[in-house]
Amino acid sequence: MNKILQLVIIFGVCLLNIACQQTSTKFLPKFPFIDLMITNGKVLDGLGNKAISADILIVDDKIVFIGKTILNKDQINTRVKTTIDAKGRVVTPGFIDLHTHGSPLKTPKFENFLAMGITTITLGQDGDSPEFLNLQDWLLKIENNGISLNIAMFIGHGTLRTLSGINRTTVPTKNDLHRMLAILDENLKYTFGMSTGLEYNPGLNAQADEMNALAQVVGKNNRLIMSHIRNEDDDKLEASFQELFVQGQYTRIHVSHLKSVYGKGIQRAEEILALLDDARESGIQVSADIYPYNASYAGISLLFPVWAKTTKQFDIALVERRAELEMFLRNKIKKRNGPDATLFGTPPYTGKTLAQLSEEMKIPYEQVLIKLGPKGAAGAYFIMNDELQTRMIIDPAVSISSDGRLEGFHPRGHGAFAKIIDEYVNKRGVLSLPEAIRKMTSQSAKILGLNDRGILKVGKKADILIFDPKRIKAMASYPSPHHLAEGFDVVIVNGKIARQDNLMANTLWGKVLKPN
Ligand SMILES: [Zn+2]
Repeated sequence: MNKILQLVIIFGVCLLNIACQQTSTKFLPKFPFIDLMITNGKVLDGLGNKAISADILIVDDKIVFIGKTILNKDQINTRVKTTIDAKGRVVTPGFIDLHTHGSPLKTPKFENFLAMGITTITLGQDGDSPEFLNLQDWLLKIENNGISLNIAMFIGHGTLRTLSGINRTTVPTKNDLHRMLAILDENLKYTFGMSTGLEYNPGLNAQADEMNALAQVVGKNNRLIMSHIRNEDDDKLEASFQELFVQGQYTRIHVSHLKSVYGKGIQRAEEILALLDDARESGIQVSADIYPYNASYAGISLLFPVWAKTTKQFDIALVERRAELEMFLRNKIKKRNGPDATLFGTPPYTGKTLAQLSEEMKIPYEQVLIKLGPKGAAGAYFIMNDELQTRMIIDPAVSISSDGRLEGFHPRGHGAFAKIIDEYVNKRGVLSLPEAIRKMTSQSAKILGLNDRGILKVGKKADILIFDPKRIKAMASYPSPHHLAEGFDVVIVNGKIARQDNLMANTLWGKVLKPN
């Protein structure tokens, strides 16, 4: 009996082996040439599964095989154009950044993003996209000009207001609203959705009827609303979410750079996450992204009251409500952890805190802000609590973003994705590597509706990273935010090596992505 069983097992194993060998070699007749072969790596598929030892074969911009290849030296020499030995390293999908800023025509190389493993960025955020009635030509220009990584574009709600003549009006006329909806409808053909920036002008003037009408158009096109919500202050979060959830009755919705301004503790994080979970349970498709830093970055107009945000409003406020404005700013800064917690990032104040500036100018800090005016500077604000933000960063439903820009005076633009591995996986041990990768790849692709990226699987586009997780370092810091991340040895975009061993390729391999 035992002998028979042994024979059956041996026979079975043989059959399996033959099957494996067949799948391993089958690709060769079908593909006379392999453009890129990655051998001996530990493959993390992006879905959160454990790493498997496998080779990856790429033809043109697609993965054509994942498994054990059995090629002899001769076959490799004659039929494989480029081979990369990934021994001792992991192979993962390229990272997808759900919240990015930048000028692709001016800075198409975006080495800051590639160096931290990002192969797809999303532009047109916070309600703000280039002011064209039709974005198609502009997107075509980017592609013709060349771009180092993939771009998924959004159309900004604030820009729609400008284009349709609504600007800062609270309630648009019927005609203007129709014009805005028509511009949105047309542009959703080329974009992944609409972004909102309800804390900024002109978006902050919009009311529920307008937002819901827009949401219906976005939903009809099966697209996404990505929202910088109305107010990120801890006591305003619930109301801001509720406003977005109403839009979520018509379309998929997304909370950009999830944070609580001056909220504290793990318990509070649980409450905030529960708001999103409850909405999901009630059938609303809501997602979120977060960046791994405790300071935000924005223009200082963010600190000013709604009645003194524009230059015109500010000038009037100075004459009519100066004392009230001073009091407002004083309280705002107090709530936001005091004047030491505001670090200016624009010249001539770069690197100085509001407290330092107040001392230098010998005037109280609220008067410093008045002297600069709402348009006078931008800065980093240390307004987040680490315990609270960390709980949200490790939440399985929350994806990772950078909210970074190449020139921005904040380390997130050069460090965010590296920091997730460097700090949260390696140093703190609060995320496993496969889970961290999932939150930066497949989950983000799903949110965008990108079916062919974010996962390592046969048939998917070959956006791929090769690195040793132990060597990943986020080098950027607040005083020195423009240091490139280290450790991502090979960054592959659309099947081509875009950056290897700290060197950028001469050709730009990115694409302007088209929504499904
Ligand atoms: Zn924002």
